[in-house]
Amino acid sequence: MPLNLTESRKLQHRAEQLLPGGVDSPVRAFRAVGGDPPFITHAEGAYLYDADGNRYLDYFGSWGPMILGHAFPPVVQAIQQAATRSASFGASTAAESDLAELVRRCVPSIGKLRFVSSGTEACMTAIRLARGFTGRKFVIKFEGCYHGHSDAMLVKAGSGVATLGIPGSAGVPEETAMHTIALPFNDLEAIRAAFVARPQEIACVIVEPVVGNAGTIPPNPGYLEGLRALTREHGALLILDEVMTGFRVSLGGAQQLYNIQPDLTTLGKIIGGGLPCAAFGGRADIMDHLAPVGPVYQAGTLSGNPLAMAAGIATLNELIAREHEIYPALERTTASIAEGVSKIARESGVDLTTNRVGSMFTWFFTAQTVTNYTDAAKSNTSAFGHFHRAMLEAGVWLPPSQYEAAFVSTAHGQREIDITLEAARKALATVTT
Ligand code: PLP
Repeated sequence: MPLNLTESRKLQHRAEQLLPGGVDSPVRAFRAVGGDPPFITHAEGAYLYDADGNRYLDYFGSWGPMILGHAFPPVVQAIQQAATRSASFGASTAAESDLAELVRRCVPSIGKLRFVSSGTEACMTAIRLARGFTGRKFVIKFEGCYHGHSDAMLVKAGSGVATLGIPGSAGVPEETAMHTIALPFNDLEAIRAAFVARPQEIACVIVEPVVGNAGTIPPNPGYLEGLRALTREHGALLILDEVMTGFRVSLGGAQQLYNIQPDLTTLGKIIGGGLPCAAFGGRADIMDHLAPVGPVYQAGTLSGNPLAMAAGIATLNELIAREHEIYPALERTTASIAEGVSKIARESGVDLTTNRVGSMFTWFFTAQTVTNYTDAAKSNTSAFGHFHRAMLEAGVWLPPSQYEAAFVSTAHGQREIDITLEAARKALATVTT
């Protein structure tokens, strides 16, 4: 029986009269996979429920934050209690230092940090700070990496920008984009050449240490170490964008997993337990260039919002207390799901390459290995779209683009593995690559 999406269609029609494309963030619109997106009414654990009463096993976890599953009771209680004391003060609270201490415990490269409301803000300000600190203009990023939608970062970006097939964005002046150098990921020669071409001009290199926004792409052995050495050699700062990987691929993020010490780190998603919260931080001498101590300006009406702090504290407390149980369990569950479907694809004669780091993974519909955005872009996106629709019909909701990472939460267990493999067996039987 096909999915009944009658109520969702009505809600979509209404939303389209009010919101461009009916959405507040482009990839929610399902343009890349076809069909109408279900409208969500509530979620619990590993499952989402829509306006027609359909249930879906969730593999996008609000695009990353929901590592403990939806409506995790300690997080819900923390938000409820904070809300009774008022949603916002616009003045300092102890909770900001409480969360900052927890973040520093998990990510020791961070000496000082500042809370903001989105990953976009965190990355935009980290770059401004790098420019202010070094007195240099140019920024190196990598093709297919997404660092939010600030003007300078919408150059050869991943996520929705890659999904919609647009090279940059209208509205970004050439003069702004010209200071962003986009290079292929996993290619140290390209970056070495860029430093030689612009001596003393490159302020920073910003990178997703495990790319998530072109689909999941791990760094080649030695790649991040190479970035660290080259940035040091040329007096540029290394910014690890751990908005997605922070608290995800290990408690201390990718920098712990690969043992890399960045100058600055950006964090988001999990840090706010599902509420709008992000942060950037790093070496205290660099962070002290921020206003009001230093000359680099940044501000935010809702920065350090008490509800977001409460949700973040409850989330990190849980991850810290159960680190040695949670991360190995996530690893096992995700391996069973990602590699289980890989095996079914091989048996079904479907070309599929599975990339996975911890509890983030992507099934690329290509026979080739995927080590950068150019490889990812060779995937058969219509086969992915077909697979996505078939999985949704079977009650499994994957991120609606080939160029996104899927996420597993602590609420996913053996039952969810079985549901997924069963759905994938049926879906892959109908896919041709
Ligand atoms: N950086 C990375 C690695 C991301 O994955 C994202 C969002 O997906 C961002 C930055 C931007 O974060 P936000 O959507 O909170 O602005």
